[in-house]
Amino acid sequence: MTLSNMLSDPRLFRQYAYVDGKWTHGDGGREDTVFNPATGEALGHIPLLETEQVSAAIDAAEAAFVQWRALRADERCERLLAWYDLLQAHREDLATIMTLEQGKPMPDARGEVEYGASFVRWFAEEGKRTFGETIPSHIPNAALGTLKEPVGVAALITPWNFPLAMITRKAAAAMAAGCPVIVKPAHETPFSALALAELAERAGIPAGVFNVVLGEAAEVSKILCFDDRVKALSFTGSTRVGRLLLEQCANTVKRVSLELGGNAPFIVGPDMDPKEAAYAAVAAKFQTAGQDCLAANRILVHESIHDAFVEQFASRMAALTVGNGIEAEVDLGPLIHRQAVEKAASIVDDALSQGATLVAGDQLEAPGPNFFMPTLLTGVTPQMKVWREENFAPVAGITAYGDDDQVIEMANDTEYGLAAYVYTHDIRRIWKLLRALEYGMVAVNSVKMTGPPIPFGGVKQSGLGREGGVTGIDEYLETKYYCLGALGSVSGS
Ligand code: NAP
Repeated sequence: MTLSNMLSDPRLFRQYAYVDGKWTHGDGGREDTVFNPATGEALGHIPLLETEQVSAAIDAAEAAFVQWRALRADERCERLLAWYDLLQAHREDLATIMTLEQGKPMPDARGEVEYGASFVRWFAEEGKRTFGETIPSHIPNAALGTLKEPVGVAALITPWNFPLAMITRKAAAAMAAGCPVIVKPAHETPFSALALAELAERAGIPAGVFNVVLGEAAEVSKILCFDDRVKALSFTGSTRVGRLLLEQCANTVKRVSLELGGNAPFIVGPDMDPKEAAYAAVAAKFQTAGQDCLAANRILVHESIHDAFVEQFASRMAALTVGNGIEAEVDLGPLIHRQAVEKAASIVDDALSQGATLVAGDQLEAPGPNFFMPTLLTGVTPQMKVWREENFAPVAGITAYGDDDQVIEMANDTEYGLAAYVYTHDIRRIWKLLRALEYGMVAVNSVKMTGPPIPFGGVKQSGLGREGGVTGIDEYLETKYYCLGALGSVSGS
């Protein structure tokens, strides 16, 4: 069965770029094939745009900026809410597209549509609250204050692990602020982005305000980064590419937001029930088959409960079902491609060669070449890749620690600083860890931490800026200060 036959609305499956409100072929005839990672079958093809076509998307966005910024905030809100309603109405089709191109199980894909749509609703409303300030004047007979103005065209480069929500978290904020966007999705998962474009058009978002360009990543991103008409770049992806884009944006001094990799510690205190903590750690590790920037990458367990924790973790992990995400009752889908499987295997080999113990994870049981069975390693040390690198795979590494000071040092022993988890009921330990952990987000006794109202983002080499929350829209706004002088006597100035 083809992808479009599996949708109740087949027009959501588009195999063109979307520029200036038009579905666009590649002028040079270059194409890419998109595969289902669970089966290896081709799902469809996408055009690779030529340089001039990407520049044309910037022309279109710049032209659209004039009208889009001139709308009242409540008018932009209405359009975005119409988009939100369509995302909700087509949730099942959007989830099907996502599962087929990304691999995640259908319940997770439905959850992501819900999550992605929630940013559209949030920012639709936030756009009405981009308040300036009144500043008590130090200048005689003057009124001082600030206005918030949209920065201009925003380029958004997004990854494959959350093919819909990573777009809406950026695009809704930018569009609510009055900025048109040019989205460059990951080549593995373009169809979710294109379905978003189809629904944006139906929602009455004007031509040129939401564009999706497809092409060779390095080529497209250079055009977007070097063009002075693009005023903001927001990127979610690896730290390696983030560094490169930051450098490229220096030429035009753009506003840059980066949501990069993570290497989350999951700290379990000695007072915890090993079963409760282990079940939470399994939930924090295996979402999206471990391909999640928030995934618990280093599990640090107090030595007094280490063995009991490992036993509980292994038994919970053994209950996870691995398979094609489109089928019912699957917990873990495939990895995104064969290279990801090879990387996971090399991380496990590296750990074993340095003395780690393999508690569970028999790759002979994998249901296909792109699958990696959940794997548990103990005795993980800081020299191992499984500790140092974001493994982005269903590989869990556990390390025992002795006291709070030691675990703080261990947890901070990374260039990353996105998210950390702490499990303990001791309020002094909670406060000490909360303050000492060098992370942008710390979740205490909770696996769930994200959603529209929170400032999502990392410190150190995990990124710049915050998405979501009341500050997420600021990434797309300039503050203009004004001084109105010679007003005569201004009472209260
Ligand atoms: P990636 O390789 O950095 O790719 C992300 C995006 O960058 C894709 O659109 C990709 O395009 C593009 N890209 C790749 N090489 C490029 C280059 N040389 N120049 C310009 N653009 C380039 O990351 P990924 O493997 O897709 O995603 C996984 C990473 O994203 C992980 O590190 C994860 O932690 C991070 N992530 C972070 C967050 C967060 O909120 N902090 C959320 C999700 C994921 P092509 O696909 O066309 O190559």
